[in-house]
Amino acid sequence: MPKAAVLKDIENLEILERDIPSPKKGEILLKVKSCAICGTDIKVFHHGHKHIVFPRVTGHELSGIIEKVGTDVEQYIEGDRVAVAPAIPCGQCYYCRKGWQSMCDNLKAIGYHFDGGFAEYMIVPEIAIRNGCVNKIPESVNFDQASLAEPLACVINGQQLSRVEVGDTVLILGAGPIGCLHAELAKNTGATKVILADVVQQRIDMAAFTGAITVNSKEKDLKKFVAEITDGRMADRVIVAVGSAEAQEQSLELVAKRGSINFFGGLPKESPFARLNTNVLHYGESFITGTHGSTPLHNQMALELIASGRIKINNYISKKMKLDQVLEGLREAEERKVMKIVINP
Ligand SMILES: [Zn+2]
Ligand SMILES: [Zn+2]
Repeated sequence: MPKAAVLKDIENLEILERDIPSPKKGEILLKVKSCAICGTDIKVFHHGHKHIVFPRVTGHELSGIIEKVGTDVEQYIEGDRVAVAPAIPCGQCYYCRKGWQSMCDNLKAIGYHFDGGFAEYMIVPEIAIRNGCVNKIPESVNFDQASLAEPLACVINGQQLSRVEVGDTVLILGAGPIGCLHAELAKNTGATKVILADVVQQRIDMAAFTGAITVNSKEKDLKKFVAEITDGRMADRVIVAVGSAEAQEQSLELVAKRGSINFFGGLPKESPFARLNTNVLHYGESFITGTHGSTPLHNQMALELIASGRIKINNYISKKMKLDQVLEGLREAEERKVMKIVINP
């Protein structure tokens, strides 16, 4: 019998045997090939989530082969290689009609409202298919690479919101996989200087492949460092890719006039406040935006960008593990010494 990693309760994950689900009208049965571990999988493991009712199979950065289609599924056939965008918009609300599906009032998500990819098989719900969440994988892209389309999609959304442009100096706080994707994407857009800052030397060393200027902000004064590189102008775009109020506060010292700051990482819900010098925004005409998730279209763009070879996607895959190693994978990902761990069920 096929297996699934079932989160039965907080910090209680079990590998269970399960019948192969059969797709109902409008649904797809997916044979999961790759599902990458994300920081939010670790958070959910320890703390649960307001949208999760246990037991639940988590995992939302995923790709696979269509094993079977339900009745009324027209655009897909058995054997199609697909990546599934996990955030499912309703397609009907004000924000969906605006084209801002990541802000959908009725957003549902795979791995939260529906079972996700840490399983040999999963059902892709009808509403996901109807709203364009199932993207065919370009031929030159393998399943592990395709599973990383989701984090890249969020990064694309973030840089559109930040308005990264040709000639910009882009400063990214946090050199994890998300920070590295930001660095590579900004370079592709035509940013002339891209700076990646972190406080952990090991992460800075791992980020060398991005070609960004790297800096250990524990050892060096970041404000001085950025000032030297930019002749005192500071960074046009600051992307805070860590969930830290301190980093958010510091970002206002690092932004150029008319520049933008992106709070890409969220703060813990018990302590969501930061003290900001808002005069920087007033006198400098700069702005702050946030980023939450991505749309189905961003996911398709991410797959095409991976296919183009302009993101060095293999550098993000540090380790592959089997389904019965999910727990081990979560623990290892939590230590933040590797980029991404991909589960191959
Ligand atoms: Zn994720
Ligand atoms: Zn909606």
